[in-house]
Amino acid sequence: MNFFSIVFLLALVLVTVTRLWLTRRHVQHIQAHRAAVPSAFVNDIALDAHQKAADYSGAKARLAILHTLVDSGVLLLLTFGGLLQLLDDWAGAWFASEILRGAALIGLFAVFTSTIDLPFSWYRTFNIEARFGFNRMTPSMWLADLAKAAALSAALGLPLVLTVLWLMGKMGEWWWLYVWLVWVGFSVFMMAIYPAYIAPLFNKFAPMPDSSLKTRIENLLGKCGFRSSGLFVMDGSRRSSHGNAYFTGFGKTKRIVFFDTLISRLTEGEIEAVLAHELGHFKLRHVIRRMLWTFGVSLALLAVLGYLKDKAWFYEGLGVAYPATNAMALLLFALVVPVFTFLLQPLVAMYSRKHEFEADAYAARYSSGSELVKALVKLYKDNATTLTPDPLHSAFYDSHPPASARIARLQSLGAS
Ligand SMILES: [Zn+2]
Repeated sequence: MNFFSIVFLLALVLVTVTRLWLTRRHVQHIQAHRAAVPSAFVNDIALDAHQKAADYSGAKARLAILHTLVDSGVLLLLTFGGLLQLLDDWAGAWFASEILRGAALIGLFAVFTSTIDLPFSWYRTFNIEARFGFNRMTPSMWLADLAKAAALSAALGLPLVLTVLWLMGKMGEWWWLYVWLVWVGFSVFMMAIYPAYIAPLFNKFAPMPDSSLKTRIENLLGKCGFRSSGLFVMDGSRRSSHGNAYFTGFGKTKRIVFFDTLISRLTEGEIEAVLAHELGHFKLRHVIRRMLWTFGVSLALLAVLGYLKDKAWFYEGLGVAYPATNAMALLLFALVVPVFTFLLQPLVAMYSRKHEFEADAYAARYSSGSELVKALVKLYKDNATTLTPDPLHSAFYDSHPPASARIARLQSLGAS
């Protein structure tokens, strides 16, 4: 234990207590508003749907409380509990080469942390989602998804890890700049191959059939000056009855994907308005700006790691013997960064909510604000999204503005 240990422990306690406190507030706030539908929604959402949303949010929040406690416990076990050191000793007993030993350590770590998350994922799918009527997965599908995701992470992650560890060992004090370039290249590569090669491993994508809806969407794309390599309908209903629409890829591989669940629930005008919102994110450069932010932040973080990598207090303060391997530096850093950056979360969420308001305004301009309001109300209802989140919890975590604020803003635009 050194001074850094104390700083880290205090930060971890602060983060854990804040998370638990926010979740508790959220549950209490929703519970306090469970008895009546908020006045703006009384004509569209029935009391039983409102109460279902309250209970669904409550169930998710209770799981989040347990998850927070387990995560903090696991972090302590890995660091001060000596688990990372133990995993590294095993890896060292298997491999003499530092790069292979490091890859083995990262592999063991990944298997351990994913195993901890499995019961949560299982419970979420087969208890919470099932209880509220959203789940369509069978246990065998869940297992198949898990196997595919694990194989994919190994196939794509292992070459990346080996490259990064090699650069860390070879490139001297500027290693972090090379690692950053590789990371940026890898991210762009993943975005390019995702729509055509990765997403189809999990879902079926059918070109949208010719219809009045398709004509309407093509008109909207023309009006907004947007080119894409196709409109697709995804069989989201295989897994869940939650609906959505999204874009993937960039440049020539850019696709617009609609969940079949969205198409079956919304009218043509509503689907058009939802798409116009998504187009807004592209046209207003939200997507590219977000990507540049991510790259900038990762460069700054890697520079910090470049500084920490050779500091004994960093390792010893976290329960690991120094000198340590490069892989250990990466893992320790990945574990502690979220603890020290947690309080920036409200800023990230605020930035995202600002973009949501802007995309809504774009949709109101190029499509229809009132159709978007109707679509949102249906989606809130179908997805059992709470209409009454705790304001502080929402400010901290929500990437989208609360329902009432979003709809009030759209209506103030003079919904056309
Ligand atoms: Zn959006």
